[in-house]
Amino acid sequence: MAIRVIARIRPQHEKELDKEIIVSAIGNSSDSIHPTEITLPNPRNEKEIFTFQFSSVYDHSATQQQLFDNEVAPTIKHLFGGFDVTIFAYGSTGTGKTHTMRGGKSLAERGMIPRLLSGIFRRARKVTKESVVETRVKISLHYFEIYNEKVFDLFEAPEKRSLAGLPLRDNGNKAVVVGLTERPCESLKDFEHLYDQANLNRSTSATKLNAVSSRSHAILGIKLEMKTGDQTRISTASAIDLAGSEDNRRTENQKERMVESASINKSLFTLAKCVEAIGRQDVRIPYRESKMTRILNIGQNNSLTVMILNLAPVRTYHQDTLSSLNFANRTKKI
Ligand code: ADP
Ligand code: MG
Repeated sequence: MAIRVIARIRPQHEKELDKEIIVSAIGNSSDSIHPTEITLPNPRNEKEIFTFQFSSVYDHSATQQQLFDNEVAPTIKHLFGGFDVTIFAYGSTGTGKTHTMRGGKSLAERGMIPRLLSGIFRRARKVTKESVVETRVKISLHYFEIYNEKVFDLFEAPEKRSLAGLPLRDNGNKAVVVGLTERPCESLKDFEHLYDQANLNRSTSATKLNAVSSRSHAILGIKLEMKTGDQTRISTASAIDLAGSEDNRRTENQKERMVESASINKSLFTLAKCVEAIGRQDVRIPYRESKMTRILNIGQNNSLTVMILNLAPVRTYHQDTLSSLNFANRTKKI
Protein backbone atom coordinates (compact mmCIF):
# COMPACT_ATOMS: atom_id res chain seq x y z
CA MET A 1 0.00 0.00 0.00
CA ALA A 2 1.16 3.50 0.75
CA ILE A 3 4.75 4.69 0.88
CA ARG A 4 5.30 8.19 2.17
CA VAL A 5 8.61 9.94 1.52
CA ILE A 6 9.43 12.99 3.62
CA ALA A 7 12.63 15.01 4.06
CA ARG A 8 14.40 16.20 7.18
CA ILE A 9 17.24 18.73 7.03
CA ARG A 10 19.41 18.66 10.12
CA PRO A 11 20.80 21.84 11.74
CA GLN A 12 24.25 23.08 10.88
CA HIS A 13 26.84 21.80 13.39
CA GLU A 14 28.94 24.04 15.56
CA LYS A 15 32.02 23.11 13.54
CA GLU A 16 30.25 23.79 10.27
CA LEU A 17 29.43 27.39 11.08
CA ASP A 18 31.88 28.64 8.49
CA LYS A 19 30.33 26.38 5.85
CA GLU A 20 27.86 27.66 3.35
CA ILE A 21 24.28 26.44 3.61
CA ILE A 22 23.10 25.31 0.20
CA VAL A 23 19.98 23.31 0.99
CA SER A 24 16.84 25.33 1.63
CA ALA A 25 13.37 24.34 2.64
CA ILE A 26 10.74 26.59 1.17
CA GLY A 27 7.15 26.28 0.13
CA ASN A 28 3.67 27.50 0.43
CA SER A 29 2.45 25.26 3.19
CA SER A 30 0.50 27.34 5.67
CA ASP A 31 2.23 25.50 8.50
CA SER A 32 5.71 26.95 8.94
CA ILE A 33 7.22 23.64 10.03
CA HIS A 34 5.83 22.02 6.91
CA PRO A 35 7.54 23.50 3.92
CA THR A 36 7.00 21.41 0.81
CA GLU A 37 10.01 22.14 -1.39
CA ILE A 38 13.74 21.76 -1.20
CA THR A 39 16.10 23.72 -3.42
CA LEU A 40 19.74 23.03 -4.17
CA PRO A 41 22.15 24.42 -6.77
CA ASN A 42 23.33 22.19 -9.56
CA PRO A 43 26.92 21.23 -8.60
CA ARG A 44 28.07 21.73 -12.19
CA ASN A 45 26.34 24.98 -12.85
CA GLU A 46 25.64 26.91 -9.67
CA LYS A 47 23.28 29.31 -11.42
CA GLU A 48 20.85 26.52 -12.00
CA ILE A 49 18.70 25.73 -8.95
CA PHE A 50 17.04 22.34 -8.64
CA THR A 51 13.70 22.10 -6.87
CA PHE A 52 12.31 18.95 -5.28
CA GLN A 53 8.74 18.54 -4.07
CA PHE A 54 7.74 16.65 -0.94
CA SER A 55 4.51 16.24 0.93
CA SER A 56 6.39 17.45 4.01
CA VAL A 57 9.82 18.85 4.72
CA TYR A 58 11.22 19.25 8.25
CA ASP A 59 13.93 21.87 8.59
CA HIS A 60 16.50 22.51 11.34
CA SER A 61 13.82 23.88 13.65
CA ALA A 62 11.64 20.77 13.61
CA THR A 63 11.71 18.81 16.86
CA GLN A 64 11.67 15.05 17.37
CA GLN A 65 8.22 15.47 18.88
CA GLN A 66 6.87 17.23 15.79
CA LEU A 67 8.31 14.65 13.42
CA PHE A 68 6.91 11.85 15.54
CA ASP A 69 3.44 13.37 15.96
CA ASN A 70 3.07 14.07 12.25
CA GLU A 71 4.73 11.09 10.60
CA VAL A 72 5.13 8.16 12.95
CA ALA A 73 2.34 8.32 15.54
CA PRO A 74 -0.39 8.00 12.86
CA THR A 75 1.02 4.59 11.84
CA ILE A 76 0.32 3.06 15.26
CA LYS A 77 -3.40 2.63 14.71
CA HIS A 78 -2.64 0.80 11.45
CA LEU A 79 -0.25 -1.50 13.28
CA PHE A 80 -3.04 -2.36 15.72
CA GLY A 81 -5.32 -2.84 12.72
CA GLY A 82 -3.06 -5.65 11.50
CA PHE A 83 -0.87 -3.70 9.06
CA ASP A 84 2.90 -4.03 8.93
CA VAL A 85 4.59 -0.66 9.36
CA THR A 86 8.11 0.21 8.18
CA ILE A 87 9.98 3.40 9.02
CA PHE A 88 13.26 4.02 7.22
CA ALA A 89 15.94 6.67 7.74
CA TYR A 90 17.79 7.15 4.45
CA GLY A 91 20.79 9.41 3.85
CA SER A 92 24.56 9.66 3.79
CA THR A 93 26.66 9.35 6.95
CA GLY A 94 26.42 12.42 9.15
CA THR A 95 22.99 13.56 7.98
CA GLY A 96 21.08 12.53 11.13
CA LYS A 97 19.71 9.01 10.57
CA THR A 98 20.71 7.70 13.99
CA HIS A 99 19.63 10.95 15.61
CA THR A 100 16.24 10.60 13.94
CA MET A 101 15.70 6.93 14.76
CA ARG A 102 17.48 6.47 18.07
CA GLY A 103 17.96 10.07 19.17
CA GLY A 104 19.66 11.45 22.25
CA LYS A 105 19.32 10.64 25.93
CA SER A 106 17.12 13.51 27.03
CA LEU A 107 13.35 13.26 26.77
CA ALA A 108 13.17 15.97 24.11
CA GLU A 109 15.90 14.37 22.03
CA ARG A 110 14.46 10.86 22.08
CA GLY A 111 14.15 9.52 18.57
CA MET A 112 11.37 7.85 16.61
CA ILE A 113 12.13 4.35 17.94
CA PRO A 114 11.63 4.93 21.69
CA ARG A 115 8.64 7.17 20.92
CA LEU A 116 7.13 4.48 18.73
CA LEU A 117 7.52 1.90 21.50
CA SER A 118 6.03 4.28 24.01
CA GLY A 119 3.07 4.96 21.71
CA ILE A 120 2.53 1.24 21.15
CA PHE A 121 2.50 0.54 24.89
CA ARG A 122 0.05 3.37 25.46
CA ARG A 123 -2.32 2.05 22.83
CA ALA A 124 -1.94 -1.51 24.10
CA ARG A 125 -3.06 -0.40 27.56
CA LYS A 126 -6.01 1.42 26.08
CA VAL A 127 -7.09 -1.49 23.90
CA THR A 128 -6.78 -3.94 26.77
CA LYS A 129 -8.82 -1.73 29.06
CA GLU A 130 -11.52 -0.60 26.68
CA SER A 131 -12.29 -3.62 24.50
CA VAL A 132 -15.68 -5.24 24.97
CA VAL A 133 -14.27 -8.68 24.19
CA GLU A 134 -11.28 -9.57 26.34
CA THR A 135 -8.15 -8.54 24.48
CA ARG A 136 -4.56 -9.34 25.26
CA VAL A 137 -1.55 -7.72 23.64
CA LYS A 138 1.92 -9.21 23.58
CA ILE A 139 4.91 -7.24 22.36
CA SER A 140 8.25 -8.76 21.46
CA LEU A 141 11.38 -7.45 19.79
CA HIS A 142 14.01 -8.62 17.39
CA TYR A 143 16.98 -6.62 16.28
CA PHE A 144 19.48 -7.47 13.59
CA GLU A 145 21.90 -5.86 11.22
CA ILE A 146 22.59 -6.57 7.59
CA TYR A 147 26.24 -6.12 6.79
CA ASN A 148 27.74 -7.25 3.49
CA GLU A 149 24.43 -9.02 2.73
CA LYS A 150 24.87 -11.08 5.90
CA VAL A 151 22.38 -11.03 8.76
CA PHE A 152 23.65 -10.73 12.36
CA ASP A 153 21.49 -11.00 15.47
CA LEU A 154 22.06 -7.95 17.66
CA PHE A 155 20.42 -9.63 20.66
CA GLU A 156 23.15 -12.25 20.57
CA ALA A 157 26.46 -11.58 22.31
CA PRO A 158 29.08 -10.72 19.65
CA GLU A 159 31.35 -13.65 20.58
CA LYS A 160 28.49 -16.10 19.95
CA ARG A 161 27.76 -14.79 16.50
CA SER A 162 28.73 -16.80 13.47
CA LEU A 163 30.64 -14.75 10.95
CA ALA A 164 28.67 -16.48 8.23
CA GLY A 165 25.49 -14.78 9.39
CA LEU A 166 21.98 -16.21 9.77
CA PRO A 167 20.15 -17.90 6.88
CA LEU A 168 16.77 -16.80 5.49
CA ARG A 169 13.79 -19.02 4.84
CA ASP A 170 10.96 -18.10 2.53
CA ASN A 171 7.59 -17.89 4.19
CA GLY A 172 4.86 -16.89 1.74
CA ASN A 173 5.98 -13.75 -0.05
CA LYS A 174 8.28 -12.73 2.79
CA ALA A 175 11.46 -14.29 4.11
CA VAL A 176 12.17 -14.87 7.78
CA VAL A 177 15.55 -14.94 9.46
CA VAL A 178 16.18 -18.41 10.85
CA GLY A 179 17.35 -18.49 14.47
CA LEU A 180 16.72 -14.84 15.26
CA THR A 181 16.24 -14.09 18.97
CA GLU A 182 12.81 -12.78 19.99
CA ARG A 183 12.73 -10.94 23.29
CA PRO A 184 9.48 -10.27 25.11
CA CYS A 185 9.15 -6.60 25.99
CA GLU A 186 6.65 -5.47 28.57
CA SER A 187 7.64 -1.92 29.29
CA LEU A 188 9.61 1.01 27.97
CA LYS A 189 12.20 0.19 30.62
CA ASP A 190 12.56 -3.36 29.22
CA PHE A 191 12.98 -1.86 25.81
CA GLU A 192 15.65 0.66 26.82
CA HIS A 193 17.67 -2.02 28.53
CA LEU A 194 17.52 -4.44 25.56
CA TYR A 195 18.11 -1.74 22.98
CA ASP A 196 21.09 -0.13 24.73
CA GLN A 197 22.72 -3.51 25.28
CA ALA A 198 22.21 -4.48 21.65
CA ASN A 199 23.62 -1.20 20.41
CA LEU A 200 26.71 -1.81 22.52
CA ASN A 201 26.93 -5.26 20.91
CA ARG A 202 26.65 -3.58 17.57
CA SER A 203 29.71 -1.46 18.01
CA THR A 204 31.73 -4.28 19.60
CA SER A 205 31.04 -6.60 16.71
CA ALA A 206 31.73 -3.83 14.23
CA THR A 207 35.18 -3.47 15.73
CA LYS A 208 35.68 -7.22 15.63
CA LEU A 209 34.71 -7.41 12.00
CA ASN A 210 36.85 -4.41 11.34
CA ALA A 211 33.68 -2.83 10.12
CA VAL A 212 32.13 0.56 10.50
CA SER A 213 28.59 0.60 11.81
CA SER A 214 27.61 3.29 9.31
CA ARG A 215 27.98 0.58 6.67
CA SER A 216 25.39 -1.75 8.12
CA HIS A 217 21.62 -1.58 8.10
CA ALA A 218 20.18 -1.86 11.63
CA ILE A 219 16.66 -3.27 11.69
CA LEU A 220 14.55 -3.26 14.83
CA GLY A 221 11.35 -5.30 14.67
CA ILE A 222 8.48 -4.74 17.08
CA LYS A 223 6.08 -7.65 16.88
CA LEU A 224 2.55 -7.13 18.09
CA GLU A 225 0.36 -10.12 18.90
CA MET A 226 -3.20 -9.21 19.68
CA LYS A 227 -5.55 -11.88 21.02
CA THR A 228 -9.23 -11.04 20.96
CA GLY A 229 -11.41 -13.95 22.06
CA ASP A 230 -9.95 -16.88 20.17
CA GLN A 231 -8.63 -14.77 17.33
CA THR A 232 -4.96 -13.76 17.12
CA ARG A 233 -3.66 -11.02 14.88
CA ILE A 234 0.05 -10.49 14.33
CA SER A 235 1.69 -7.42 12.82
CA THR A 236 5.19 -5.97 12.88
CA ALA A 237 6.61 -2.48 12.99
CA SER A 238 10.15 -2.25 11.60
CA ALA A 239 12.38 0.73 12.27
CA ILE A 240 15.49 0.92 10.14
CA ASP A 241 18.65 2.96 10.44
CA LEU A 242 20.01 2.37 6.94
CA ALA A 243 23.68 2.24 6.03
CA GLY A 244 25.06 5.54 4.76
CA SER A 245 23.97 6.07 1.18
CA GLU A 246 27.23 7.80 0.17
CA ASP A 247 29.14 6.30 -2.69
CA ASN A 248 32.23 4.89 -0.97
CA ARG A 249 33.93 4.34 -4.29
CA ARG A 250 34.56 8.03 -4.46
CA THR A 251 36.67 8.15 -1.34
CA GLU A 252 38.07 4.66 -0.91
CA ASN A 253 39.61 2.17 -3.22
CA GLN A 254 40.78 -0.68 -1.04
CA LYS A 255 39.56 -3.96 -2.43
CA GLU A 256 37.73 -5.04 0.70
CA ARG A 257 35.90 -1.78 0.98
CA MET A 258 34.88 -2.09 -2.63
CA VAL A 259 33.22 -5.46 -2.01
CA GLU A 260 31.58 -4.07 1.10
CA SER A 261 30.37 -1.02 -0.68
CA ALA A 262 28.92 -3.11 -3.49
CA SER A 263 26.95 -5.33 -1.06
CA ILE A 264 25.71 -2.41 0.96
CA ASN A 265 24.69 -0.72 -2.20
CA LYS A 266 22.97 -3.93 -3.25
CA SER A 267 20.47 -3.70 -0.39
CA LEU A 268 20.10 0.06 -0.77
CA PHE A 269 19.99 -0.13 -4.53
CA THR A 270 17.36 -2.88 -4.45
CA LEU A 271 15.35 -0.96 -1.88
CA ALA A 272 15.37 2.04 -4.22
CA LYS A 273 14.39 -0.13 -7.18
CA CYS A 274 11.53 -1.69 -5.21
CA VAL A 275 10.21 1.64 -3.99
CA GLU A 276 10.32 2.95 -7.54
CA ALA A 277 8.60 -0.13 -8.97
CA ILE A 278 5.90 0.10 -6.29
CA GLY A 279 5.36 3.74 -7.25
CA ARG A 280 4.91 2.77 -10.89
CA GLN A 281 2.55 -0.01 -9.77
CA ASP A 282 4.66 -2.56 -11.60
CA VAL A 283 3.43 -6.12 -11.56
CA ARG A 284 6.86 -7.41 -10.65
CA ILE A 285 8.71 -5.83 -7.73
CA PRO A 286 12.35 -7.00 -7.42
CA TYR A 287 12.07 -7.91 -3.70
CA ARG A 288 14.13 -11.05 -4.13
CA GLU A 289 17.29 -9.23 -5.20
CA SER A 290 18.49 -8.31 -1.69
CA LYS A 291 18.23 -9.63 1.86
CA MET A 292 16.63 -6.52 3.23
CA THR A 293 13.83 -6.39 0.68
CA ARG A 294 13.19 -10.12 1.08
CA ILE A 295 12.71 -9.74 4.83
CA LEU A 296 10.69 -6.52 4.96
CA ASN A 297 7.10 -6.16 3.95
CA ILE A 298 7.02 -2.97 1.91
CA GLY A 299 4.54 -1.86 -0.69
CA GLN A 300 2.17 -4.76 -0.15
CA ASN A 301 -1.53 -4.54 0.56
CA ASN A 302 -1.20 -4.94 4.28
CA SER A 303 1.68 -2.55 4.80
CA LEU A 304 2.52 1.09 5.35
CA THR A 305 5.96 2.64 4.82
CA VAL A 306 7.46 5.97 5.84
CA MET A 307 10.80 6.90 4.31
CA ILE A 308 12.59 9.74 6.08
CA LEU A 309 15.18 11.30 3.82
CA ASN A 310 17.89 12.81 6.04
CA LEU A 311 19.86 15.70 4.60
CA ALA A 312 22.74 17.92 5.76
CA PRO A 313 22.37 21.61 4.88
CA VAL A 314 25.99 22.45 3.99
CA ARG A 315 28.04 22.35 0.82
CA THR A 316 30.35 19.55 2.03
CA TYR A 317 27.52 17.09 1.29
CA HIS A 318 26.54 18.60 -2.05
CA GLN A 319 26.91 15.51 -4.22
CA ASP A 320 25.36 13.15 -1.65
CA THR A 321 22.47 15.53 -1.07
CA LEU A 322 21.78 15.61 -4.77
CA SER A 323 21.82 11.81 -5.05
CA SER A 324 19.50 11.51 -2.06
CA LEU A 325 17.09 14.01 -3.56
CA ASN A 326 17.21 12.26 -6.90
CA PHE A 327 16.45 9.01 -5.14
CA ALA A 328 13.43 10.60 -3.47
CA ASN A 329 12.35 12.17 -6.72
CA ARG A 330 12.17 8.80 -8.41
CA THR A 331 9.86 7.56 -5.66
CA LYS A 332 7.73 10.67 -5.61
CA LYS A 333 4.83 9.46 -7.72
CA ILE A 334 3.75 7.23 -4.87
P1 ADP B 1 24.04 9.47 10.70
O1 ADP B 1 23.47 8.42 11.62
O2 ADP B 1 23.17 9.72 9.51
O3 ADP B 1 25.45 9.21 10.33
P2 ADP B 1 23.90 11.13 13.06
O4 ADP B 1 22.52 10.84 13.51
O5 ADP B 1 25.00 10.44 13.78
O6 ADP B 1 24.06 10.85 11.49
O7 ADP B 1 24.07 12.71 13.08
C1 ADP B 1 25.31 13.35 12.91
C2 ADP B 1 25.45 14.44 13.97
O8 ADP B 1 24.46 15.45 13.79
C3 ADP B 1 25.26 13.92 15.38
O9 ADP B 1 26.16 14.60 16.22
C4 ADP B 1 23.83 14.29 15.71
O10 ADP B 1 23.62 14.43 17.08
C5 ADP B 1 23.66 15.59 14.97
N1 ADP B 1 22.26 15.78 14.52
C6 ADP B 1 21.66 15.14 13.50
N2 ADP B 1 20.39 15.53 13.32
C7 ADP B 1 20.16 16.46 14.26
C8 ADP B 1 19.02 17.26 14.64
N3 ADP B 1 17.86 17.19 13.97
N4 ADP B 1 19.18 18.12 15.68
C9 ADP B 1 20.34 18.21 16.35
N5 ADP B 1 21.43 17.49 16.06
C10 ADP B 1 21.37 16.62 15.04
MG1 MG C 1 24.33 6.62 12.21
